[in-house]
Amino acid sequence: MLYKWLQPSCDEFKQAYLGGRLPGSVIIAASRQLGGENLALECAKLYLCHDPTPGGACGGCSSCRSFAAASHPDFIAVLSSTSDELDRGEDLTNNPTAVLENDVNDSRHTVRVDSLRQLSHWLNESAVGGERKCAIISNAHQMLPSAANSILKTFEEPPENTLIIMVSDSLSALLPTILSRAFKITVPEVKKETGLEFLKNSISGTLDLNRGELGLKLAANAPLGAKEYLEDGTVESCTEVIEALGVAVKTGYEHDAVKALLRLDSFKQALILNEFIDEVLKFKAGVSQAELPLLRISDPLLFAKLPATHLFKAHDDMIYIKNKAPFLPSRAPAALLTAWIKALVKG
Ligand SMILES: [Zn+2]
Repeated sequence: MLYKWLQPSCDEFKQAYLGGRLPGSVIIAASRQLGGENLALECAKLYLCHDPTPGGACGGCSSCRSFAAASHPDFIAVLSSTSDELDRGEDLTNNPTAVLENDVNDSRHTVRVDSLRQLSHWLNESAVGGERKCAIISNAHQMLPSAANSILKTFEEPPENTLIIMVSDSLSALLPTILSRAFKITVPEVKKETGLEFLKNSISGTLDLNRGELGLKLAANAPLGAKEYLEDGTVESCTEVIEALGVAVKTGYEHDAVKALLRLDSFKQALILNEFIDEVLKFKAGVSQAELPLLRISDPLLFAKLPATHLFKAHDDMIYIKNKAPFLPSRAPAALLTAWIKALVKG
């Protein structure tokens, strides 16, 4: 099923394909939280369908049925993998669900040269079940330059009746040579209302609007990301941290705020604090509270007195912590956080 906010991007693909204007390679720029892989699968299904209509893939032909059954012989996806997963052959799949689940963010995962070599080999074999073949390269932003170079020639000029779809967090993460020949689809930012509507229908129980807006804010309005943050406790942790910061500003005692922050991993620490700093700066610039779900947790006026210079310094500290995360001594993030919360409180 295609998410509603992806429909215009899917239509872009459909019109190019049915209008005979599609080159052999497509790049979809959309994070996983925005549904980039979901869109890629929909495009692949349409491309392989024996009887495509202006409405999309027919859903009933042998291609559509084997795609749905995760057994399409002319569809393959390259996943981001560790070397162990590569050894076990888990880097290549024709299971669409595996593409959706290949959510990997640690440094051991990458799109591997060996996987792409196998892909090139597969693309050059003739189609089994129909006239066309389609491949998806998932998490293409995790591709090292050596891997990108290994697929460059095939990506620029795939064999006839073959489509390669790359999904990347952003276009800027890819080599210019990769970008040059491909049909590029950038999924636009999702409107808050659309995100909230999706959350209402997809999370269990009733959606609290403040929590929904907070989740969306932390996920840069990407609905699937907001859903994850609502379900994995990130929204609750964020609420705790901001409440504790409010208390710290009032009492001048930062210990609980630092403790609440340090319960989170460095990615979430930076995510929450950067959003917080961003909202304080916006509030000082006159943006209304309705647009600032983090600040609304506490009293925005409490934070408004924080000087911009301290906020920018805190922002730099967070970037430092994030970039140096694995190499900093374990007490260093705590020391830095303590120092900047103290500075903020004094401000
Ligand atoms: Zn079909």
